Amino acid sequence: MRLLAYHAFEDELPEIHKWSETNGIEVVVSPNLLTAATVDEAKGFDGISIQQTERISDPVVYQKLHEFGIRQISTRTAGFDVIDLVQAAKNHLIITNVPAYSPYAIAELAVAQTLQLTRHLPQFNKRFANQDFRWNGLISREIRSLTIGIIGTGRIGATAAELFRGLGARVIGFDVYPNPQLGNILEYQETIEDVLKEADVVSLHTPLMAATRHMIDKDNLKLMKKDAYLINVARGALVNTDDLIAALENGQIAGAALDAFESEWFNNQDLSGKPFNEPQITKLMAMDNVLLTPHIGFYTKTAVKNMVDVCLDSVVEILQTGTSVNRVDHH
Ligand code: NAD
Repeated sequence: MRLLAYHAFEDELPEIHKWSETNGIEVVVSPNLLTAATVDEAKGFDGISIQQTERISDPVVYQKLHEFGIRQISTRTAGFDVIDLVQAAKNHLIITNVPAYSPYAIAELAVAQTLQLTRHLPQFNKRFANQDFRWNGLISREIRSLTIGIIGTGRIGATAAELFRGLGARVIGFDVYPNPQLGNILEYQETIEDVLKEADVVSLHTPLMAATRHMIDKDNLKLMKKDAYLINVARGALVNTDDLIAALENGQIAGAALDAFESEWFNNQDLSGKPFNEPQITKLMAMDNVLLTPHIGFYTKTAVKNMVDVCLDSVVEILQTGTSVNRVDHH
């Protein structure tokens, strides 16, 4: 059995190597994304693993994988919105994700960004760097006095709720499928609008799909409090970025932290000093009440190890049994 891991980044290499040694299975790594231009690399392999935020939209990719005798695409991520499930099904490709490599990794980032925003740390860092040691205008609210609104109370949302509760906040939430076990951590609201109206911090934790695309838009942003913050460590397209920029410019909300963007081709690249033609992101970069990170939610040692191990285990499971517990395509 020979496997190919597309787009393996530096920190994954030792984990892939360890998995390969433990399981006695060869895993070749490629630095490339899976695209129509790179799909031929998969020829001759028994299974493939991917890790990317660029959508695989060209049907040729799925057709060629099928032609090469490949039966699956296994992503080392939780989100699998980069895969066209219709094309995958047409070409008999089983899709797996890593459902819970470490919800704490992403939830902790949501908490960290919330505290940065509520304590005005970006503004104080900037003042201090300019030898401006004043406090004025930046008095903070304590997390215990705030209501945190969690949209999507699945694995990551529930973990974020638990962490915020641990800090003493009141936590409210909305989910299309409320989880009764979370009753002692958060108060479910009837609608997303109820959460947006009441929360001092709104943190998004839903998957990206047709029903959640641009779930935060100008109408929803209008409902938020003027001193509230929006945290998006889930998927960029959950938010209409133009509407968010307008809301920040008009002072409709107090600030935002984003770990995910509508386009993320630049992740994990050093483009300093180079032209960067992303007008939305450039606008956000200029705002000192906005925190931007290049999709680092998953980027912890625990999470990276689990992503590699669970994904490669799923590939083997499919090759040996024809399916996997981590299967996400409809079957
Ligand atoms: P999950 O499936 O455990 O939970 C998602 C929850 O969202 C579910 O409870 C579901 O019922 C709910 N939901 C679905 N549609 C909804 C809607 N319209 N309104 C309200 N709730 C809705 O997923 P998870 O593991 O918690 O991950 C959540 C998302 O976080 C992933 O899909 C992924 O996009 C993102 N993520 C980001 C990073 C990162 O590095 N920044 C890493 C992992 C995951």
